[in-house]
Formats: sequence, structure tokens, C-alpha cells
Amino acid sequence: MKRPIDNSIGLFLFGQTPYTLSMSKIDWLEVSERIDWLKKPTVAGDYSFHKPVSIQWFADGELNVSYNCVDRHLPQHANEVALIWEPDNPAEASKKITYAELSIQVNRFANVLKKQGVKKGDRVTLYLPMIVEAVYAMLACTRIGAVHSVVFAGFSADSIANRIEDCDSNIVITADEGLRGGKKIELKKNIDEALELLSAKGKNSVSKVVVVKRTGADIAWTSQVDVWYHEESAQVSDVCAPEPMKAEDPLFILYTSGSTGKPKGVLHTTGGYLVYAAYTHEKVFGYRAGEVYWCTADVGWITGHSYIVYGPLANRATTLVFEGIPSYPDVSRFWQVIDKHQVNIFYTAPTAIRALMREGEEPVKKFSRKSLRLLGSVGEPINPEAWSWYQRVVGDGRCPVVDTWWQTETGGILISACASEDGTTYPEVLKPGAATRPLAGIYPEILDTEGKILTGAAEGLLVIKESWPGQMRTVYRDHARFEETYFSAFAGYYFTGDGCRRDADGDYWITGRVDDVLNISGHRLGTAEVESAFVSDARVSEAAVVGYPHDIKGQGIYAYITLKNGVTPTEELKAELRQHVRHVIGPIATPDIIQWAPGLPKTRSGKIMRRILRKIAENQIESLGDTSTLADPSVVKDLVENRSNK
Ligand code: ATP
Ligand code: MG
Repeated sequence: MKRPIDNSIGLFLFGQTPYTLSMSKIDWLEVSERIDWLKKPTVAGDYSFHKPVSIQWFADGELNVSYNCVDRHLPQHANEVALIWEPDNPAEASKKITYAELSIQVNRFANVLKKQGVKKGDRVTLYLPMIVEAVYAMLACTRIGAVHSVVFAGFSADSIANRIEDCDSNIVITADEGLRGGKKIELKKNIDEALELLSAKGKNSVSKVVVVKRTGADIAWTSQVDVWYHEESAQVSDVCAPEPMKAEDPLFILYTSGSTGKPKGVLHTTGGYLVYAAYTHEKVFGYRAGEVYWCTADVGWITGHSYIVYGPLANRATTLVFEGIPSYPDVSRFWQVIDKHQVNIFYTAPTAIRALMREGEEPVKKFSRKSLRLLGSVGEPINPEAWSWYQRVVGDGRCPVVDTWWQTETGGILISACASEDGTTYPEVLKPGAATRPLAGIYPEILDTEGKILTGAAEGLLVIKESWPGQMRTVYRDHARFEETYFSAFAGYYFTGDGCRRDADGDYWITGRVDDVLNISGHRLGTAEVESAFVSDARVSEAAVVGYPHDIKGQGIYAYITLKNGVTPTEELKAELRQHVRHVIGPIATPDIIQWAPGLPKTRSGKIMRRILRKIAENQIESLGDTSTLADPSVVKDLVENRSNK
């Protein structure tokens, strides 16, 4: 079924909100011209959100992603810097990789993969630290039409094994070791263990492991399987013709971060994804040629895919690849890197901002940060307090902060303010904590639990009505799970799983996961709202709020609170915080239970895992569920032992 691209007039006739009208329409075929096609598409979107769900974009087009990210920049801009690499340890030298150099490296890597038997359509698992070879390897896969599955280098052997098995991949690319915060991560050893686990199950599909040398550590070696990247690449040519790909050929599989359950193998395809990543990178950040752009995500997450690699390189940006962490060698590291490389656009996550806020202003103020023009946030709702600190302290009050809402599933940003080259933003007024407006071409709706469309200022469940090019196409080899997860809650809509409020100005505020929305005596409250109230007390560093069964109210508010450095946890402070939240939101939001939390359970991408906190609050500690994506399992042990609900 083909749907009209813009139906705001139809909606108007049905009495929709004026906001629908203010959402600008867009000609996606015109947008698709920003990339180079071997064969130009003649159709834009062709999709149905009703079962059987099927989504296609630019279906008759043909292209190659690595060609778009590298080759097409060479005739005029070969000597411009594509990648700046900043190592974990500032004493080690950084690198600048021009587009010319990137081209040579990607071609070589592609030839190495070919030589190891990788063919178009094969799945290649990448388990790499934040080194330039990670970017080369991703682009090399796209050059030959292989489908990459990047697994974050913080994952254990068990998690890697599950992901290799799920996508049945025959080649793994890894490094001897990774470096993060001065610590070594034994990547090759983890791969060896993962392959043993798979062999024990009779499920080892991997025939070759390509190993990049990062630290030069002594590692175990299986000569039939393991090959050194530097040895192989010295033997191949640096010319590899880009494989022509259909727009709907698979580009990559990426597993979600798993904050709500077992990770899903999200499949993105070639044409629509690239168009959307490039389009949003330019729209949201207002990227101008010559600027240095830094997204602090890891390539193991969708943010790294879309906004370190594909979007920026398709736009011929200079993109910074950072191997380290914000607190090593000290908590000024981000600001020091910004000065060192004269970063203009900085894009990070609320978890990092809150952690750095905890350290006070001095570590930030030590550095000039004069080069900064724009700041971005992604990953979780950003508390207004953290937003304001980011804007006032990091951006010296001169840089707009864009809060970008999106998901692994959406491929790129859907709701965010957009910055222009001239320093202005759309919308003009940015409210701390609001994701603001949908991008042109994105049509969100807010529904109540019965599926009724809520108009005007409203709060409810966030769905998207029309497809966009960057939308995921399926859960890898499990289309039924795709339909079930995203299209069965409300017929004809993509269900995001997030709660959302739209205010009277038409700005969107993400209130948290729908699972986590609280229902206190019949009143719906977003976890984000209550958490932000806690964080607005100067003594609180982080807060995570969940509901638990309450005899009278139906649900009570259980809050896990991390205090700032140097603040003493006392019963008086609990009473004061309770009063504070009551004062900020109202009596309905008075927290019932406060538990001091030295740390909060987070995914390896830094998101708070509220489903585990909910189990602890409900005293169901035997059924914590899948904890394999937790960054630090010991945090949970502490919270269980000290729970206030025994
Ligand atoms: P899983 O789907 O396996 O539970 P996940 O949802 O954490 O994992 P991601 O795709 O990494 O996996 O995260 C997307 C989610 O992150 C969104 O649905 C939303 O809840 C949250 N999120 C991302 N950016 C923002 C933002 N700017 N504001 C509020 N929430 C955000
Ligand atoms: Mg999700």
C-alpha cells in the first residue's frame, strides 16, 4: 500500500491539532538526492504498519554506502580530515586521517575480508575498541555488501556468543586488547571464550577471527582460525570496487541496549538508513564544512553508527573518535579534548553529564571551550537541572543544547530541536528537558491507553503514524517479534514504548518508558518528572524512580538516590527530599520510599535499568530477569542487600 507523504490537510478536516499542520511536509525523493546513487530511485516510501508489516524506501534505487562516505569526497576534498582519533591515554599521540587515507584503509580492509571468504550478505561480527580500524571495518563491510553486527567491546563472552549465534556470523573482527580508562580489556580472550561456548553447543559458525593489534599484548593464537590484520592488509591491494547494493539490501544488524528486556536484533537497510542518517546529522547539528564534530558514543551503539560514522562521513564532516572515558586520567578529560582538537559540536549522554556535574564546575572551567558552538544530548530524558548545567557551565550560556530523542529502531533522530548555521535554532526557545519538535517528515501522535488520539496539550503514549527512511525493517530472522513488539499495541502505528507529554506550545517531553510510568491513586506520573524533581536538589547527583504495589494508592513511589560527592546520607535528608519533590510536583508525587544508592544499575551504554529496580522495589529479587547487559552487576547486589522494602 502506498501512502501519501503528507496528509496534514486530511487530518485538518478530521479536526486534528494545529501542531500537525505546523509539521512541515517533506519530499523524501528530493532528500534522497543528497547521496550519490548508482541508480536513482523513482519511489520514496512504500509501507504498511498493518500486519503483515512491510517497510520499503527508495526500493528501486542502487548505491554503495562506503562510496558515499568516502569515494565521492575524493575528487575535491581528498586532503580534508575525515577522522580525528584521540587515544585513551592523552600521553599517546592522536591521529588525523584524511579522506584519501580513509579510502586506502577501507579498500584494504575490504580486500582482507574478501580474502577471508566474506561474501555479499554474510554477517560479520565486530568486537572492537574505539580505534580507527573500527570505522575502517564497518565501511569495508558496506563496500563488499557484507552485513555488520557491531558488539560493544564491554560485553562479556556470553553476550558475544549469543549475538554471534543469533546472526550466524562466520567472521569476527576484534583486537588483541582494548584500552579504556587506563584499563586493559581482553577482547581476543573474550572472543576465544565466546567461540568455545558456541562450540560446546555445536553452534560455532565462525571460521576466521581477524585480529587488529592495539596493545601488542601476548594473546592465545589458533593458527587455523586467527589472522593478524596488519599481516593480511600488507598483502592485499588498496583498490576494491564498491559492490552495487539495492536500497533495501541489509546494511547492518544491531542489538538494542536491553534496558527493557532481551536485546533485539534490529535490522537496518542500505538506502533509507544512509539518507536518513545524513539528513538528520545536517538538520539537527547544522553541520558546516570544516567544523570538528564529536559524538562521545561508542560505535557499539546506534548513536555511534549514525552519528560517528555514517551521517558525518556521508556529509564529509570531520568526526572525532575517542577511545577513552570522561573520567580518565581525570574528570576534565572531555573539556581537554575539546580544546585540543577545537571541537565545534559536542554530542553526549545525560549519564555523562550528571556524572560530571557531580564533580562541580572547576574541572570544566579549567579549559576554554571557546570552539564550542552546539551541544547535544541523547540516550535518556535529560533532567532540566542537567540540561541547564550543560548549557550554562559547559556551553558558557552561549551554545544551544539540542535534546535528541530517538531509538536503535528509528535509525536516526526523530524529535529534536534543529540548529542552523547562523546559531539560531528551531524552535527558537529551547526548554530544559524538552525534546521539542518532530523533524520535518516525522508524524508523532500521543495516544491514551485505549488508542484514542489525544490532541493539543496532552500526555500519553508516543507512537509514529507514518514511516521515515531510517526506520528498522525487521527483527533479524524474527519478523513476528517485530510486528508483535512495535505494531500490535495500536493497529496502524509504530509504537515507541515511550511515554510523552506535549505542552501548549507543541513541544514534546519524553516522560520515560511506558512500563515505568507511575499510576499513583489514578494519576499518571512520568518517572522522568519525579527524577528531575529529585535532581533539582543541589545535593542529589542521580535519581531513579519506580512504582511498587501500594495498598491504598495502588502504586507507591520508590526512589533510588545517589548523592553528590561529600553529602552525608541521613534520615533528615530523606525527609527534606520528600518535601522537596512534593513541593516541586505536588502532593501526589510525594515519594513513599527513598533508598540511598551508591550506584544505579545501568546498561553498558549508560541507561538506567529501571526494570531491575522495579523488581527490587517489589521485593521480587529472585526474578531480576536478563542482567547480561548490565555494566556493573555488583551495583545490584548492594541495592538488594540494602533495600528498604524487605
Ligand atoms: P531495549 O529496547 O532493548 O530495552 P533500549 O530501548 O535502551 O533497549 P536504545 O535504542 O538504545 O535501546 O534506546 C532507546 C530509548 O532511549 C528510547 O526509547 C528512550 O526511552 C530513550 N531515549 C533516547 N534518547 C532520549 C531522549 N533524548 N530523551 C528521552 N529518552 C531518550
Ligand atoms: Mg527500546
